[in-house]
Amino acid sequence: MRTFGCQMNVHDSERMAGSLEAAGFHEAAAGDLADVIVINTCAVRENADNKLYGTLGHLAEKKREHPGLQIAVGGCLAQKDQSTIVERAPWVDVVFGTHNMGSLPTLLERSRHNQQAEVEILEALEVFPSTLPTKRENTYSGWVSISVGCNNTCTFCIVPSLRGKEKDRRPGEILQEIQALVADGATEVTLLGQNVNTYGVEFGDKQAFGKLLRAAGEIDGLERIRFTSPHPAAFTDDVIDAMAETPAVMPQLHMPLQSGSDSVLKAMRRSYRSTKYLGILERVRERIPHAAITTDIIVGFPGETEDDFQDTMNVVREARFASAFTFQYSIRPGTPAAEMPDQVPKEVVQERFERLVALQDEMSWEENKKLIGSDVQVLVATGEGKKDQSTERLSGRAEDGRLVHVGVPAGHTVRPGDVITATVSDAKPFYLIADPTTPEGFPVRRTRAGDAWDRAQAESCGAPTAADGPKPVSLGLPVLRQDS
Ligand code: SF4
Repeated sequence: MRTFGCQMNVHDSERMAGSLEAAGFHEAAAGDLADVIVINTCAVRENADNKLYGTLGHLAEKKREHPGLQIAVGGCLAQKDQSTIVERAPWVDVVFGTHNMGSLPTLLERSRHNQQAEVEILEALEVFPSTLPTKRENTYSGWVSISVGCNNTCTFCIVPSLRGKEKDRRPGEILQEIQALVADGATEVTLLGQNVNTYGVEFGDKQAFGKLLRAAGEIDGLERIRFTSPHPAAFTDDVIDAMAETPAVMPQLHMPLQSGSDSVLKAMRRSYRSTKYLGILERVRERIPHAAITTDIIVGFPGETEDDFQDTMNVVREARFASAFTFQYSIRPGTPAAEMPDQVPKEVVQERFERLVALQDEMSWEENKKLIGSDVQVLVATGEGKKDQSTERLSGRAEDGRLVHVGVPAGHTVRPGDVITATVSDAKPFYLIADPTTPEGFPVRRTRAGDAWDRAQAESCGAPTAADGPKPVSLGLPVLRQDS
């Protein structure tokens, strides 16, 4: 399974993998050639087409060597390109869209049986993705879709035409799924939607998102609730109240700014203005002073002048984002912005982008340095610290979502899902370091999520679980499973 794009896609891939497992497929061992390769595509990121067709080009060779191999392409680009995919890459066996990912096993079977490519794209959602089986990436944390689709019409975005109008899940179903995740050992969930805070628009409750946060906060055993992404235009104070008054909701907010220029926001058809955006941040910080706020920004939208760009720089200075995903605008065929006059020359976009990144890195570093000497609660993760082996550290996220690399004194056993109370000893622009000065200064809280990780490890290697007898897995440092 190869996934391109956003967290929605990562979660969709978990659903696709779950559907395949339920149909009897198993993940191929590392290094073995799989019988089925699934590519979950993205149509939003730059060069999405080139990446997909480049990948398919490499796979053509594999298919020639292994004629039984099946290749399936799903996700946003499949929804957009439909049968063009099999026209350009006739060795693809299955193309399926964003609305019918649960059909993947059937389509593979049908293609194998009929010895021809199967292309099935639905224009409306067939089954809410969260009702499909899941193969989750880890035991301690899970994604939960609360809505899919989007009712906005941002002129740079292809999502509404690919994912359709917003569809909201009923709150009871969402809470049930969270409860099931928690019963499985998860202590953290991230609620997902294109616009999480318009949740409820379909069933006519404008305050549904705040209520959902509060209800999720009541679930016993759930320690960390995150969500992504809210839209500034729909961000209301009842959500800030729910965040501030629900201890399990983490002090973190990822809210896309896109531009600090009001005229660019207008051209983007984003209905808030910079003053409103900064006002939300101010109110969030009044109620949750230690909140880490992150954002997305697009540089070089058509018509963006140097003055417009300076407006963005000014908002970035004022907003003090903990970090930002910065993007250079590039034409996405099928979007209104692609047809706009005054496309900004590539070299101008590049130069502005570099200035923005330099400013944001400086701001991130300043914000991170303020945390030196403070205690953070780090939920130990898998796959977050690429250098953990050589640095003898473990990595995970603090409550505010910051990445923390924690030095672990010899003799301590920590499992993914456990929580370390660590004192920040150094700060870099993109992460914090917490190296304990004494072995005693290293409190670890063993959690249900860590127990679940132990059980999963024991099951995968056939060892007895803790409940069955002697403790099977001693995860001394620095050996951690790296999720692919
Ligand atoms: S809010 Fe705008 S950017 Fe986000 S998914 Fe909807 S149309 Fe796209």
